[in-house]
Amino acid sequence: MHSTIELDTIVALATVPGQSAIHVIRLSGPDAIKIVNKVFKGKDLEKQAGHTAHFGTIRQEDGTIVDEVLATIFYGPRSYTGENTVEISCHGSQFIADQLLQLFMQVGARYAKAGEFTQRAFANGKLDLAQAEAVADLIAADSHASRDAAMQQMRGGFSRDIKKLREKLIHFASMIELELDFSEEDVEFASRDDLKELIYELQKVIRALIDSFSMGNVLKNGVPTVIAGKPNAGKSTLLNALLNEEKAIVSEVAGTTRDFIEDEINIGGVTFRFVDTAGLRETQDRVEAIGVQRSYEKMKKASLIMYMFDAASSTIEDVKAEVEALEALGVPYILVANKIDQLSSELSKEFDTFNEHLLKISADKEIGIEELKERALHLVNLDKVQSGNTMVTNARHYQSLRETMKALDDVINGIDMEMTGDFLAIDIRSSLHHLGEITGEVTTDDLLENIFSKFCIGK
Ligand code: GDP
Repeated sequence: MHSTIELDTIVALATVPGQSAIHVIRLSGPDAIKIVNKVFKGKDLEKQAGHTAHFGTIRQEDGTIVDEVLATIFYGPRSYTGENTVEISCHGSQFIADQLLQLFMQVGARYAKAGEFTQRAFANGKLDLAQAEAVADLIAADSHASRDAAMQQMRGGFSRDIKKLREKLIHFASMIELELDFSEEDVEFASRDDLKELIYELQKVIRALIDSFSMGNVLKNGVPTVIAGKPNAGKSTLLNALLNEEKAIVSEVAGTTRDFIEDEINIGGVTFRFVDTAGLRETQDRVEAIGVQRSYEKMKKASLIMYMFDAASSTIEDVKAEVEALEALGVPYILVANKIDQLSSELSKEFDTFNEHLLKISADKEIGIEELKERALHLVNLDKVQSGNTMVTNARHYQSLRETMKALDDVINGIDMEMTGDFLAIDIRSSLHHLGEITGEVTTDDLLENIFSKFCIGK
């Protein structure tokens, strides 16, 4: 199925364009080694073993040296793409890289499309679709957590889980389809009870994968964190303290932090993406009202809320009302008592009722900031990641899993309604179809185009 035969050889710069220490140009296709050999002076590359590197010069037709390079050759299928591949390391000048690219195109290579190397790896069965997508995620990884999730998927952890599920279902689908051949004789090869049990088992696994998406998504894109609180509570000051730079406009005027300022920090290898909000107050002011509405929307969607109040001027009643609203949202929160530097004595004991939710800080004097970070990390509860559980990080996979789940519900309903095998088979096939979309057993050109066009050229 993966046997798309590519007849042309593609070339692209694999490194970031511009000036650097070295550049790497990659060629892949049946003629990759032959094409390089036409312009390479040194050993005869076509006579060398795979996985070897050779020093030489690359020359234009008139003998002009373009650069001294190192050519590493790979024979398919033992390469990233599964095809013959050459990686040329040259000096890191954009001019030299351009000259080399032009030269390779003159002697038979074609400039690669975005993601085409990885697409060929997929076509040649070196990677399934979920693994190919993980390559893009790995390149984009910006924290330990996102790296680990992408690495696990690229190395096939997720694909293995999906494959196991498919195999079990395929077995049942074929038993049921066998029954259809004997339909006159009223036999049951596939016990309905066994099938139901299997489906419950599959649904349990799929449900865990679906549930992992919110965490997986958080790992990939950062924990959406809202800093909320009334105007002047010190939200901008806290954000600045956390970002350690003037990203938010700190203002003494109440309610001027109207726009959402999104920024990120890394705590213990996890990215927290801050969404600064306009505050939680009731207001008649139209602009602010929209801001407040948006604040609630953002807070509902957040994975963590840091709710700030001015410890020097808030009463326990003020804060209680806010805490009730927070509890109703059901999002983990930290109740941040700010401006403790301004308290004439300790914060009133009444506030102890908020227990472990409460944290006393001074955003301005930077007291308690580290503890706030530790609490944040603790609250998002990322232990699941360390244990190496499979994590769904891709919205496309999430969607396919949900559709699989729905199709499996239909199978269960069908069994309960004592539907005939042919109807059950349709729903089982439908769940197989959706599972197959994840790893690429089932694909369309549009889907592939959509996935690979998001890669950069050269990957
Ligand atoms: P926001 O409206 O919630 O974003 O509040 P700001 O961050 O703009 O802070 C309002 C005012 O409180 C500013 O004048 C800050 O300098 C001041 N402020 C913020 N945090 C502290 C603090 O920990 N101690 C003191 N004394 N003042 C603070």
